Amino acid sequence: MKFLSTLFVVVFICISAVAQKPRVIILATGGTIAGEGASADRAAYTAGKVPIESLLKAVPGIENIATITGEQIANVGSQDMTIEIWQKLNKRINEIFANNEAEGIVITHGTDTQEETSYFLALTERSDKPVVITGSMRPSTAISADGPKNLFDAVTVAASPKSNGKGVMVVFNENIFDGRDVTKGNTTNVAAFHAPTLGPIGKVYDGKVSYYMEALRLSNKNTPFDITNIKTLPKVGIAYMYADAEPGAIQAFVKEGYKGIVIAGVGNGNFNKVFYNAIADAVKKGVVVVRSSHVGSGRVTQYDEVDDKTLGTIVSDDLNPQKARILLMLGLTQTSNKDILQSNFFKY
Ligand code: ASP
Repeated sequence: MKFLSTLFVVVFICISAVAQKPRVIILATGGTIAGEGASADRAAYTAGKVPIESLLKAVPGIENIATITGEQIANVGSQDMTIEIWQKLNKRINEIFANNEAEGIVITHGTDTQEETSYFLALTERSDKPVVITGSMRPSTAISADGPKNLFDAVTVAASPKSNGKGVMVVFNENIFDGRDVTKGNTTNVAAFHAPTLGPIGKVYDGKVSYYMEALRLSNKNTPFDITNIKTLPKVGIAYMYADAEPGAIQAFVKEGYKGIVIAGVGNGNFNKVFYNAIADAVKKGVVVVRSSHVGSGRVTQYDEVDDKTLGTIVSDDLNPQKARILLMLGLTQTSNKDILQSNFFKY
């Protein structure tokens, strides 16, 4: 009898322990983490092949961190990421948290446009619960594939109560990055991500999460950008500046009816005289032009070598061109007032 009651207590404790595990939903979108090749190197592999169930099987012990369920949202190389997939992700994330289906979400994603997805979701998802994006540089079939470790770490971060209020993050190579600040900084290395201006906000190692910094720019729950009923975003293009560049890209965007243009300028968002004239013309025609930079770190500041007042341009602050494009697209869904659009760049 005593044995039976002890057994009952033990079983009860085990069941409660299982029941208490945090719930994490993995939304898979493809990328090299789901890539497959014929050989053990990176040569000739195809991103976005392996389904989420197989990815999870390659991560021993992941089931001890959380109760995990996987959903395949897309299966593409992230060079083929689209606004439509972003909207699908955003909708599902908001639904999961509104229905209290999970404590955290992990998104598996190709690395090429991971920084764009992270910023788009940071600006549009409406919860303070953690959304952690990860991927890998080596396909699942390669020697020392980095995907299983990144996935393990991402689930660890998503399941940690310390991650509440941190919004959208990217976990890669043991670093935790804020979804706004992170950018891809290497084409092939497993240490592919960095936050060049502000640094990572934390570390994840041996199943332990440590935060060091707090990102203040994210809005999450208070985001002003609600895309629930928006089907398409205003078109915004990026024109790349270099020595002796011609302004054809700017003129083409204007001709095609783009609502905004981001200049991937040199230095502090600078450009040559022919760019200047093409930009002045675009602004006169009502196109919103943002000065950003392809330097890779630092801010673009107002009224420096370029007089934004005279030219009618706004600046991206420390957002790189591809992230500035996202904020401008979302801003343009609400207004074309340049003062408000400029203040977005200082707020978000
Ligand atoms: N082209 C791949 C992608 O972005 C690269 C990667 O995932 O590392 O999907």
